[in-house]
This record gives sequence, structure tokens and C-alpha cells, in this order.
Amino acid sequence: MLAIRDYHLPTLDSNLGFLVDRLGYSACAKIYQKRQRLLNKRTLLSKGGHQMKKSSLSGDRSTSTYQLKQLIQDFVDERDWRKYHNPKDLAISIAIEAVELMELFQWVSESEVGTMLDDPKRFAKLEEELADTIILCFNLANVLNVDVAKAVTKKVEKNRAKYPVELVKGNYRKYTQLEDTKHD
Ligand SMILES: [Mg+2]
Repeated sequence: MLAIRDYHLPTLDSNLGFLVDRLGYSACAKIYQKRQRLLNKRTLLSKGGHQMKKSSLSGDRSTSTYQLKQLIQDFVDERDWRKYHNPKDLAISIAIEAVELMELFQWVSESEVGTMLDDPKRFAKLEEELADTIILCFNLANVLNVDVAKAVTKKVEKNRAKYPVELVKGNYRKYTQLEDTKHD
């Protein structure tokens, strides 16, 4: 029997070590992988993340930002709402919708976020408020004639320069705090 350390597995609890001795490596490797997947999911959920279903991205793969902007513009025009959509009120509305999104997390402890995301009704509400916020962002982009793809790409590039991987990997210090690090 090969010792478990020969496989460079991360720390295992004593029960799994015992199983390796009893069942052999390959059976235990499967158990270990399953256990690891569960642990990863739990860690992700405890951090407020959510495992994305691959199928849930099919719309994003096939729909362009241009199509979304057009969809939203059509909705506005069909109702003759352009006259209400000025930059100031849209900017305010983005903040209001973002608050509605935040409200869903109000008084939910970090440990309860995973349960919240697993609840289909609560997740659907979260998706709706996120969509409201995004719709208003696209609305504002339409009014200001902003090319969303260009603007987002340009800002990500700017953020790359502001947060160099070698300085920030694994920590979340704000760029103003990074200046000191550069001179360390
Ligand atoms: Mg809303």
C-alpha cells in the first residue's frame, strides 16, 4: 500500500487516512475528490459566492451588448419614456436599484448567504434586482451614447495597471495603499 503522502494530497482528516488503508488509493481518491468539491462549494458559499451553472450562461454567449442596448431602447421607445430618461435621473435610479439589491442581503449573516442563494425564490429576486440595476446602466449608456464594451474593456485595462498582479494577488488593498508597498 502506498502511503497517502506519496500522492501529495493536501491534509486529510484521520478518517480518510483510515479509509485509504482499508479501501486502497483509487477508491479513496474518488471519496477525496467528492469531499473536496463539497468543501470548495461550502467555502465559496461562505464567501457569498455562488456556483454558476454552465447552462445559465447560454444567453450571455449568444447575446451581444449591442442587442441588449437595443432591447432596452425599444422598451423605452415603445412607452415614449425617452423624455424622462435624462442622465441625472438615470444615475440616481442606478443607485436606487443597487440599494434594492443590497436590501436583499440586509440582516443576512455571512453564514446564511449560502442558504439564501440556494433558495430558488430568493435567488430569483436577487437576479431581478441585479437585472434592474444592469438595465438602468444600459439605459444610461444609451442616453450618453457610451460604447459599453469599449468603456468596460478600457476600465479593466486601467484597473490592471492600478492593481498589478505582483502587488495585489491574494489581498484586497486599495491602490492608494499600494504606493507604500512599491517602496518597501
Ligand atoms: Mg428593483
